[in-house]
Amino acid sequence: MQQPLYVLAESTQRTSGADARRSNVAAGRAVANAVRTTLGPRGMDKMLVDSSGGVVVTNDGATILKEMDIEHPAAQMLVEVAESQEAEVGDGTTTAAVLAGELLARAEDLLDDDVHATAVVEGYHEALRLALDAVDGMLIDGEVDREALVTVAESAMTGKGTGDIATGVLAAIVVDAVLQVADDDRRVDRDDIRVFTHTGASAAATELVRGVVFEEEPANDNMPRSVEDATVAVLDTKLDVRSGEVDTEYTITSVDQLDAALSAEDAERRAIAETLSAAGVDVVFCSKKISDPVAAYLADAGILAFSNVKASEARAFARSTGARRLGTIDDIEASDLGTAASVRVERHGGDDVAFLEGSDDSRTVTLYVRGSTDHVVDETERAIDDALGVTVAAYEDGEIVPGAGAVEVAIADRLRSGANAVTGRKALAVEAFADAVDAIPRTLAENAGLDPIDALVDLRARHDSEGVAGIVIDGPSVAITDPREDHVVDPAAVKREALESATEAATMILRIDDVIAAN
Ligand code: ADP
Ligand code: MG
Repeated sequence: MQQPLYVLAESTQRTSGADARRSNVAAGRAVANAVRTTLGPRGMDKMLVDSSGGVVVTNDGATILKEMDIEHPAAQMLVEVAESQEAEVGDGTTTAAVLAGELLARAEDLLDDDVHATAVVEGYHEALRLALDAVDGMLIDGEVDREALVTVAESAMTGKGTGDIATGVLAAIVVDAVLQVADDDRRVDRDDIRVFTHTGASAAATELVRGVVFEEEPANDNMPRSVEDATVAVLDTKLDVRSGEVDTEYTITSVDQLDAALSAEDAERRAIAETLSAAGVDVVFCSKKISDPVAAYLADAGILAFSNVKASEARAFARSTGARRLGTIDDIEASDLGTAASVRVERHGGDDVAFLEGSDDSRTVTLYVRGSTDHVVDETERAIDDALGVTVAAYEDGEIVPGAGAVEVAIADRLRSGANAVTGRKALAVEAFADAVDAIPRTLAENAGLDPIDALVDLRARHDSEGVAGIVIDGPSVAITDPREDHVVDPAAVKREALESATEAATMILRIDDVIAAN
């Protein structure tokens, strides 16, 4: 009799073939379903409660999936779709997750009809190519100027909980932030746009500071709390006697010698303040420690100094004022210093908040986000984050498309007419892809309280006759019209990324026919 052959450890759990596939597809769809009701301006919010009772109320797909603590490996892949969408273009996470879930659902039907997974995967890739073509065909002509960017930013924030601040106002702030830090090649470094949140005022008090907002007190109480037209030094060196760095031993044999040693140290500390003062410095930002005696001498010299500022802040102070970051104050020169319109410390809601308003061409800005409660501030920050993502994407490539489902209708249309050209069973997968893309306008309609089937029929009819049609939500009203007229536009990059990442995740999951889990 033949002995059984054990290849895997006994505790290993293995599912294969249709079972593995079904379980993966179901897990992926469950994730997509978790976020689908949040899609669009009429999307609902989710309240997420963690194990220690912390509460997050949000409408943001990436945040929901991150907070959900998902364990299933296939579901985890969908979470990664949302994460990469967030990292690449900063918005469109719900769209990407819903699309990936729909692609899986439609694939499941085909697999049940005995279409091989390979044919589905190939068909999906073919469909992706056609879909990207359709996006190109929907690009809105004309330059993406400030006004166009404001519409993009506003579309990304519609329906998000931004407290009592109008999305139009917030959109303008976001766009001005991006334009302020963009370089001549229209490139934007997101590190140059800082967001500083602080509760204790209504969201309407949110403002753009062309500089840095930070939470720091002056190094000494006698320092001025406000300096106008400041000359600024940014230092990455400790301000104290140098000998303090290494343990030097003095051999002191008399009181005179002790006095001499102490006064030599004192003179060195005094000299630090004198050197900075002689160079014309009014404000010092130091990423290392400023010792108390040195801070006292700086205060005597009328200098405002901040000790132990964070490294990221030191970068921002330098970018905002044009100062060079110095590792030593020996040979400090005027060209090493920067300028600021003002540096001041204010009391806001019981805390010290410091403001540096940089030079006119400050390369760093801060969105100073206010709100009455932590929940409002956090959700406003997430809305701003999405708006920044879309504004940067639209500004960098200069490409925008109509929103409100218009692109998706055009894609589905292109796929259905292109499916004929695709041979064999792959054509079925191209059609399935079209059905999956329909889920975006269908969900927008559903979330807006329309009958999804009727809405899709009207939408297609209008698309056929006018070329561009979306489900446009404007306050309380919903209409099937041209979204461009109501300024509902999205960056092309967000649409492309959503299509690509959803296809990638869905096909990756579909290719799996064996799950082998170590216990
Ligand atoms: P995502 O995480 O995918 O960005 P959102 O909840 O932000 O999800 O919804 C984005 C979708 O909502 C996009 O398709 C966008 O075009 C659409 N949208 C934005 N504003 C409107 C509007 N006023 N009317 C209809 N659709 C809109
Ligand atoms: Mg969005």
